[in-house]
Amino acid sequence: MISKILVATDGSETAWKSIEYAVALAKQTGATITLLSVIDKGFFVTRSIPSVATPTHLIEPIEDYLRQVAEAHIEEAEKLCKKKGVQSKKVIRSGHPVEEIIKEAEESKVDLIVMGSHGRSAIKAAFLGSVTFGTIHKDTKIPLLIVRK
Ligand code: ATP
Ligand code: MN
Repeated sequence: MISKILVATDGSETAWKSIEYAVALAKQTGATITLLSVIDKGFFVTRSIPSVATPTHLIEPIEDYLRQVAEAHIEEAEKLCKKKGVQSKKVIRSGHPVEEIIKEAEESKVDLIVMGSHGRSAIKAAFLGSVTFGTIHKDTKIPLLIVRK
């Protein structure tokens, strides 16, 4: 019933917990794992640089850096998969996290999405992170499992 699991990670502690959960579940069910990290361009462009026409020479190095950070985190997760004998695939997308998580899940026809209740944000009091909240409310049939912080 579960043969493909998608785990979405932002490199946070809770996301790491969700990776561990997904890997354990994959081991039990014999499923494969897609490790997905989305580079949220909108976040640093619209929220930190007060201009619509941000020059590309400013954006590109930031994006490259964020990609490197995402790669490093996903490589850690790949090591865990290898150690546990779980087959994994890494995917890094650029765009809005909620949209890209759903797109990847639909395109690779996964049976389950696993993610954390919270992420990197400092607002620890929030009931649920906005990426997880947004993913719950997307129009899709794919089940979602939320790992608590
Ligand atoms: P907010 O971002 O709303 O201020 P937050 O950072 O605490 O709050 P979310 O961003 O919703 O909460 O993070 C919850 C979970 O969503 C993470 O544990 C992770 O599984 C997933 N997630 C968040 N951002 C990304 C991302 N850029 N790429 C992939 N997965 C992500
Ligand atoms: Mn976040």
